[in-house]
Order: sequence, then structure tokens, then C-alpha cells
Amino acid sequence: MVLRISHALHTLGRLALAGAMGASIIAGDVAAQQKQPSPGSAKAIFGSVALPTQGAAQPFGFYAKGCMTGAVALPADGPTWEAMRLSRNRRWGNPAMIGLLERLSRDAANYDGWPGLLVGDIAQPRGGPMFNGHASHQIGLDADVWLTPMPSHRMSAEERETLPFTTMLQKNAFLTINPDVWSDAHARLLMRAASYPQVERIFVNPAIKKKMCDTWTGDRTNLGKLRPEYGHDSHFHIRIKCPPGAAGCKPQAPVAAGDGCGKSLAWWFTKEPWAPPKPPKPGAKPVKPREVMVSDLPNACSAVLAAPPVSSVRAATYGGASAAEALTVAPAAEPAVAPDEALPATGPIPDDKPSVQ
Ligand SMILES: [Zn+2]
Repeated sequence: MVLRISHALHTLGRLALAGAMGASIIAGDVAAQQKQPSPGSAKAIFGSVALPTQGAAQPFGFYAKGCMTGAVALPADGPTWEAMRLSRNRRWGNPAMIGLLERLSRDAANYDGWPGLLVGDIAQPRGGPMFNGHASHQIGLDADVWLTPMPSHRMSAEERETLPFTTMLQKNAFLTINPDVWSDAHARLLMRAASYPQVERIFVNPAIKKKMCDTWTGDRTNLGKLRPEYGHDSHFHIRIKCPPGAAGCKPQAPVAAGDGCGKSLAWWFTKEPWAPPKPPKPGAKPVKPREVMVSDLPNACSAVLAAPPVSSVRAATYGGASAAEALTVAPAAEPAVAPDEALPATGPIPDDKPSVQ
């Protein structure tokens, strides 16, 4: 797969496509590299920044190629959410994203029988590419939410690191929902998330999309926002639109009209998306994938890196310092690619299928 996406001139275009297609689409090649990013790479630089910039929140660039200023942190705990994997330091986002997560957590608890959200990765303090796990999540407008309900107790930092993901898929079956873990509340949660006008796309596993198509009997107006994607079987990914006035934010084409339950979904249930990549043509020069450098990102991102930081995490926590986390977070361990973020080894990039997203 690395070879398939590594035509040098197309790499950046592919990254943009990957972003258009979902969070984990090139997680597989990240996993395949499994090495520390080079010291000068954008991943290494953005991944080592501990605090966001001061000042107004602005996304720069595209979901899969950009950065941000003025990020705020989702408090590690709220009445209806708990942030997970705190050591990753990825609970930063545009205030519009953080506000939406809090709103969704309340609405889901009040109306959908979903006790609260476990929130996964949002973005790094200044966004940018990540060492592992995601192609997008770079401008503070993407967030992962677990498909596991919040437990009734407040988890320790250790539990938040180690609580395993629960897949919604049946083992040893092809794209089949496991009825022992899936519930109507999952369906209501997804449709609640899709209901907000600022939400542009929600990425879910094709099996989840199909389940929704087959069983959702309520208003289907927003069903088309649920987009089938590799992975995304133990969490879903919320992407919001560029906030009003965010001139440096590159919007994504809106989803096609309709519920998305037809041909584009059926494609996922064919062999094509799961076929091993074609071998390179005989005699073709192997092209090494080139790491993304800061200079590949929008120009503003160099200034974003150089800008002065806020004074502390507490000062930049959404809702003010009083909402800041009380947990002491252990220093980040060597990050590992979460199993559900990695592509299946045989997963290709469906480059001939621009319509699927
Ligand atoms: Zn994601």
C-alpha cells in the first residue's frame, strides 16, 4: 500500500484525498512506517509542541493538511464526558469543535439513552500532522468519539490509557455488526451527532453505515452525513465545517444528496476495497514516500509554530480554568498505533472511487 500511494508527485494530492476520505485512510502507511519521524518533519515538530498559541482560534488549511491557532482543550472530565488517552495530548480543538462535543454529550445523555461520551483524539495543541493514527485531525475540526458508553465512575488516568476498544463488528464475519454490542442507543447517538448543522461528515465503518441504512426508521435527512470508511468500528469520527469567518480554512465539498445507502455503500461490500494492492509495473522505479515537511503545509503554519504559547493547559481549557482537568497526567509514553486506527493489511486506497465520500 505504501508503494501504491507513493508516487512522489501525487503524494500531497493523495494526502488531501485521504483527508477527504476519512481519518484512518492512510493510517496504514503510518503504521507501515513504524519509525520515528525525521527530526525536521512536520509530524516531529507539531508532535512535540505542548501548548497552543495565544489569541484567536483559526484553522489554516485542510483537515488533512494544516494547523491551527488559539486551540482550546476539552476538559478531561465533564458531567457527560470523559476524555481518553490523556497522555497523547490530543484533546485540543477549535472552540467550535469542543463546544459541539460538550453539546452532543449533553443531548445524548438527555435524549438518547447514552450516558456520556468517551472522547478520543481531537488534535494536537497546534494541530498539524500526527506521528500516528490519523491523516486528518490537523485543524481542530475533527474528533473521535468511542462507540463505548461512558462508565458511571470517573476513570483514573491509567484506566483511560488502557481501556480497550470494543469493536462493533462480529469476529470472523465480513462486515457484520455484532448484535451483542450494538444497540439502538448507538444508532441514536450517531444520528444525534449528524443532526447538528455544523457537522459535515461522520465517518463510520461500512457495516455500521449499512446497519443504519437498514434499521433507522426516524428522519433520514441527515443519514447521508454518515460516511462509510475503513476502520471506525469502535469509534466514530465527527468532522465539522469551517467555522464562519475562518478565511484560511479550506472547506470540503459537501456530501452528495441522499442517504448514501445505495451504490456507494454497496461498493464496500464487494471485494475491490479489500483486495491487496496491485504490484508495481515491472521496471517501475520504486518511489519512497516522502515525509511531510512544515514547508508543505500552508504558509501560516510556520508562524503558528513560532507564536508564543498560552501560559498553561488550564488557561486554555474550554470553559475557563475552573473547568481544567484535576487529573495529573503522566508523561506521554511511546505512542502505539491503536489497532482500530490501522488499516487492514490488505486495505487499498480506493483512488478510483472519488464518489464514496
Ligand atoms: Zn478520526
